[in-house]
Amino acid sequence: MNGAKQDKPAFVTRQQVEEMVKDYPTPFHIYDEKGLRENVQAVREAFAWNAGFREYFAVKANPNPYLIEIFREYGCGVDCSSLTELMIGAALGVKGEEIMFSSNETPAEEYAYAHELGAIINLDDITHIPFVEGIVGKLPETMSCRYNPGGILQMGNGIMDNPGDAKYGFTAEQMVEGFRILKDKGVKHFGIHAFLASNTVTDEYYPMLAEQLFKMAVRLKEETGAHIAFINLSGGVGIPYQPGQRGNDIRAIGAGVKRVYEELLVPAGMGDVAIYTEMGRFMTGPYGGLVTKAIHEKHIYKEYIGVDACAVNLMRPAMYGSYHHITVLGKETAECDHCYDVVGSLCENNDKFAVDRMLPEIEKGDYLFIHDTGAHGFSMGYSYNGKLKSAELLLKADGGVQLIRRSETPQDYFATLEGVPMLNKIYEAYVKNH
Ligand SMILES: *Cc1c(COP(=O)(O)O)cnc(C)c1O
Repeated sequence: MNGAKQDKPAFVTRQQVEEMVKDYPTPFHIYDEKGLRENVQAVREAFAWNAGFREYFAVKANPNPYLIEIFREYGCGVDCSSLTELMIGAALGVKGEEIMFSSNETPAEEYAYAHELGAIINLDDITHIPFVEGIVGKLPETMSCRYNPGGILQMGNGIMDNPGDAKYGFTAEQMVEGFRILKDKGVKHFGIHAFLASNTVTDEYYPMLAEQLFKMAVRLKEETGAHIAFINLSGGVGIPYQPGQRGNDIRAIGAGVKRVYEELLVPAGMGDVAIYTEMGRFMTGPYGGLVTKAIHEKHIYKEYIGVDACAVNLMRPAMYGSYHHITVLGKETAECDHCYDVVGSLCENNDKFAVDRMLPEIEKGDYLFIHDTGAHGFSMGYSYNGKLKSAELLLKADGGVQLIRRSETPQDYFATLEGVPMLNKIYEAYVKNH
């Protein structure tokens, strides 16, 4: 890419950002309503062949209720894995079987609350059967179990992931035993769930997973007589973070699952099984960006651009070394003839949004658009170095901009301290003087 033009377009322009910063200073995450809507519509169409299909949006990817409300218009439920995520679902009026509770190492009070909401409980382990029973008394009529086939998962040429090394789910033998136990305890309708690989950028993943789950479903039906109501393909459908990388074709993925469904489930008399998904990254990832301003440049052994965002706003590069494309707004057609590390202000040397990245010459005051922060971006943030969480904006389909989460203030950061009123006085004095 040395010297190449920037080839992955941002969904905002420099001009738009210059307007936004008048009201909302950088850094902020911005989400593209039009992109979100087109994508969820495509998901719906890709699985329209399955009468019971439902996408349960994985709330952990982006827990902003304004985005979840958009998905609700397209019939999506929510996939929650914690107390606060369940509360977000409850606040949006999501009820009963529109909530999937897929958690692990689950605290008792979370199972209790999920049950109160009527959520479908997706058990992560066979020992959770008596655990949940101890909390809720009589088990609900519909329950789900998470399957972990173990081994190594290989697709195409590359090893995709290593389920045998993952903490999640029941073994195959435990699935059979678990279904028998649940059936004895009065459970009538069953779901099967598995999540074998993350961020798969291949149309093969869901059909391959579906094949494993459908075979397990047929086996469970034959061996236990259980009624399999749904199969949950969970998340893991990836997005092209790299420029020029081919993305997933959700229609091809839907068609691939349909083919396996007709091969395996229909002949087994299971043509009424609903297909569920719990996608997060695919639903919101590409439709979010982190907008940050270049505030320093530094020339030592390497060239650095210091920006006003840091790993607190987007942790993936620091945590996994993930690639996030960067567009220097207003310089989309300039040559990428400068090599930079783009870095945040944490006292941690992994606080780097990009390392040895070829970009156009960056001047102080330039706005950088860090791509694909719509999933596992803001939500993964932490508060190291006392850095505050940014605002979140929604770029509406009509071009308007809506603040959907304000930025944190020092007061938010100090709020949980016991008995240090001086900090609030200092903050108030600071606000008065600045
Ligand atoms: C994280 C997670 C998801 C969403 O995963 P994506 O890779 O964002 O699609 C779905 N289900 C469960 C149980 C998860 O833990």
